[in-house]
Amino acid sequence: MMRRWPYLARSALVAASVAAFAVGGHFVATTAIDTQQAKQLEELANIALRRSEVAVDFSVATLNDVMQRGPMTCDAASLQAVRLKVYQRSQVKDIRLVNREGSVICSAYSETLEFDNEWVTRPRMLQTADHSLLLFRVDQINGVALGVLKDIDARTSLVAILGVSAILFDILPTELRDHGEVIAQLDNGADIGRFAASQVLDATDAVTFSSASHRYPLRALVRVAPDALRRWNRDRYWPSMLLAAVLGLAFGLLLTRAVARLEGPIADIDRALARHEFKPYFQPTFDLRTGAIGGCEVLARWVHRDGSVTSPMNFIPLAESSGRIEAITWQILALALKEMRPRLAADKYFKMSVNITPRHLLSDAFVNRLRREVRESGVSARQIVIEVTEREAFPDLEKAAAVIEALREHGFKVALDDVGVGHSGLSQIKRLGVNTMKIDKFFVDTIVQDGSAATIVEMLVRLAAKLRMNVIAEGIETVEQRQALLRCGVECGQGYLVSPPLPYAKFDEFLVAYEARIEAEAVVRQASVA
Ligand code: C2E
Ligand code: CA
Ligand code: CA
Repeated sequence: MMRRWPYLARSALVAASVAAFAVGGHFVATTAIDTQQAKQLEELANIALRRSEVAVDFSVATLNDVMQRGPMTCDAASLQAVRLKVYQRSQVKDIRLVNREGSVICSAYSETLEFDNEWVTRPRMLQTADHSLLLFRVDQINGVALGVLKDIDARTSLVAILGVSAILFDILPTELRDHGEVIAQLDNGADIGRFAASQVLDATDAVTFSSASHRYPLRALVRVAPDALRRWNRDRYWPSMLLAAVLGLAFGLLLTRAVARLEGPIADIDRALARHEFKPYFQPTFDLRTGAIGGCEVLARWVHRDGSVTSPMNFIPLAESSGRIEAITWQILALALKEMRPRLAADKYFKMSVNITPRHLLSDAFVNRLRREVRESGVSARQIVIEVTEREAFPDLEKAAAVIEALREHGFKVALDDVGVGHSGLSQIKRLGVNTMKIDKFFVDTIVQDGSAATIVEMLVRLAAKLRMNVIAEGIETVEQRQALLRCGVECGQGYLVSPPLPYAKFDEFLVAYEARIEAEAVVRQASVA
């Protein structure tokens, strides 16, 4: 009965799960690595900036040193003393004396003046936050440098020429050094130092990280070629992907199990529906006094292809919860109507009961579909009894009463099943307005030994009489039970004492033989009375 769901489908589900986890893993791993890289490169830009700031501080210290010696003049001795200072401070390349406009008056290394491509005037120099210095770019033939200007008095100032490029060269990690650059800039965008890759970097698609100074009009940029970035620090990528794939595999396997468990029995029901494996069995109802059979109850059976039979208790609950009960009911009813039609037509008093779940009873169009099925089978609605169990509470009692009323208006009979063990109190039984009460087997089982069971049955019989309802007792197995029920006033019953539920052919055979026997017994009884 348990169906294998195809190996291919299972493999596909596992593969899909691994793929989904791998895609997720890829995103998580790359995002984590990208974030980590961005943090590292921002930190490098910070380091470049801090070094540039320190270089400026350093040049200010040098200028202060020079000034402490006494005013710098352009005479040979003074310039020589300044040259000594410059010589001691490797990043300071030159110190110059400038006038108010910023034009050079003299330089410690006067030869270097020839290297200048451009010397900006004071208005184009940038002020530091504390107004103590002016910074500007010095464009020279052999590269760029930073000019740091500090005023001596109202007419003259000192300028330190600072080489910034040299302090930027070891910032980038070796893997990125050939594919990136570190730049120190003034706030106006003028480069004042640069460590550039040996390969030319395409600035338009380079990834840039920057850090700006609070003290000086300075910023540092780190630029890296995107593909170099993609290769850098990827050691965590493959382990993450492996972990994702393993998780995906585990999830996929769990999922296939869950799906197999869920899908299996429901798919079995669907296949059985398609193959018409749900069949009606018939159990007679009989007059407890005379034994005469006045009808039957249709009970569902799942007859498998190998001939084995599954009892309704083993598939009705799942059929109900999975929404298959209605299809099963209609399949069984159609066959039951077809098989029973000749007998129902021959005996207009013969009744056939069918079990309908409360939810099906309350579903839209139930009454219309029932009428159509019964009409099309050529059976009279008056011979059909709808049995509704009261084991579960009705989701909507008012609606149930309305549907029952509609059924009765169309000629159907309605029986309340399993009375005494379910939810309905006596007032609800009354409210539902059914024709018949089926007393549960539970009371029949105990009626011989247990006085209280007999009391309850008597009470139900009295109530039924008051409500003009019939009573049927289910599950009668012994003659003693039958006698006890008769003493309680029950007149009609059903049970193995007469017959178990049978498939139609056997049921028909049984009825023919049984009726012949009852008739013979009646003849004997009459003869003995006479
Ligand atoms: P139910 O409607 O109360 O049916 C009576 C149950 O008692 C049947 O069990 C019947 O075979 C069994 N029975 C009858 N006489 C005796 C007896 O003397 N001794 C014993 N031990 N049992 C007896 P079954 O056929 O296994 O059905 C069980 C339940 O499954 C039914 O209880 C009903 O609630 C449900 N069911 C059966 N067929 C259908 C159906 O077509 N549709 C729906 N919705 N439910 C069904
Ligand atoms: Ca029933
Ligand atoms: Ca029952």
